[in-house]
Amino acid sequence: MKTILIKGVQLKGTSADIYIEGKYIKQVAADLTLAADKVIDGSRKAVIPGLVNTHSHAPMTLLRGFADDMKLFPWLEQKIWPNEAKMTHEDVYWGAKLACLEMIKSGTTTFFDMYQKTEAIAEAVEEAGIRGILSAVCFDHFKPELAESGKQNIRKQFQKADKYGERIRLSLGPHAIYTVSGDMLQWIDRFSAEHNLLIQLHLAETESERENAVKQFGLTPVRYLHKLGVLSSRLLIAHALYVDDEEIPMLADHGVKVAHNPASNMKLASGDRFKFAEMKRAGITVGIGTDGCSSSNNLDMVEAMKLASLLGKVWRKDPEVLTADEMLYAATEAGASIAGLNAGRIEEGCLADLCLVDLHAPAFVPNFNFVSNLVYAANGSCIDTVICNGEVLMENRKVQGEDEILEEAGRIAFRLIKS
Ligand SMILES: [Zn+2]
Repeated sequence: MKTILIKGVQLKGTSADIYIEGKYIKQVAADLTLAADKVIDGSRKAVIPGLVNTHSHAPMTLLRGFADDMKLFPWLEQKIWPNEAKMTHEDVYWGAKLACLEMIKSGTTTFFDMYQKTEAIAEAVEEAGIRGILSAVCFDHFKPELAESGKQNIRKQFQKADKYGERIRLSLGPHAIYTVSGDMLQWIDRFSAEHNLLIQLHLAETESERENAVKQFGLTPVRYLHKLGVLSSRLLIAHALYVDDEEIPMLADHGVKVAHNPASNMKLASGDRFKFAEMKRAGITVGIGTDGCSSSNNLDMVEAMKLASLLGKVWRKDPEVLTADEMLYAATEAGASIAGLNAGRIEEGCLADLCLVDLHAPAFVPNFNFVSNLVYAANGSCIDTVICNGEVLMENRKVQGEDEILEEAGRIAFRLIKS
């Protein structure tokens, strides 16, 4: 079995050696004298668990910077959806390759994704070496014929998922309650229970979504899902900005998980009042996400931690909430637990998904508090080395094949927009 020894790295303020055997962290101790296939010098570096991005649309990297400063619905209807409709397997593949590269370069080892052409994304994830919980987006627009083809597509996806490697998990991706009927949501819930699959759903993202749900269904988004009977521990909802104090216990009681996307919520002006503290108190597992690159406009989870914290502080006018430690926990251990991974911690027996942070940089000097520096002073470019599943994916900020990915994805994005 392949072994890696990281020597003298900072772990929670002390120097440690980390011994990786195969895909697991085997030993963490002050001074290990073990032979290893590869030895990494950890001096002037700190180790953190690999970051987990709980909400993204990876191939939207191709649309980065293409349509900014617009309202959500005209943006989706005029700019995003028409271009996504043109995307070929190759486009999605290169968009996902670029996303995986960007995620590795900023310390993400696992991401949740909702998009189309899942096989192309899976191919990119296999090659990149990170983990993906991938869902094919599903819409039925309240039309029975579209629901039928959506179900067929899900069954097909499920059969194909057998051939994916161990780092890829299939999940289900109903887009939102305004694009997917209640019947379809119930069918998806049953399918997910039968096959033990997670469900990723946008929910309560905007004020108008909440108002329209009341008009259309007579209920607010969370109450509507509750009535449909689809709140469950297999459900991960993205955004959850418009959730009231009675809905939080509904989510908590059913074990629903939440992905908070501060950059996207701010840029699309969807809202600022994400109730992190209330959800946490109720026992809800909250992860952090970036959302797609056309609304975030990057996949930098280090930056996302800072934004989540600052946004949470400003609307409450309370600097004591959403601490740096809480943000790092949400971006690592909470995300890993949503993904069902024994990861998110630098401990013996955990999956070897970790990053080395370069401390030899202005953001980490002086180093009174490493986590504060990481969350408030740094950004994703502080990540020097990334290991996922016991494989080194980046060392000294170099990722194999990155030049080709940058060139090809850039070329493909221009071709897509001009076609
Ligand atoms: Zn999204």
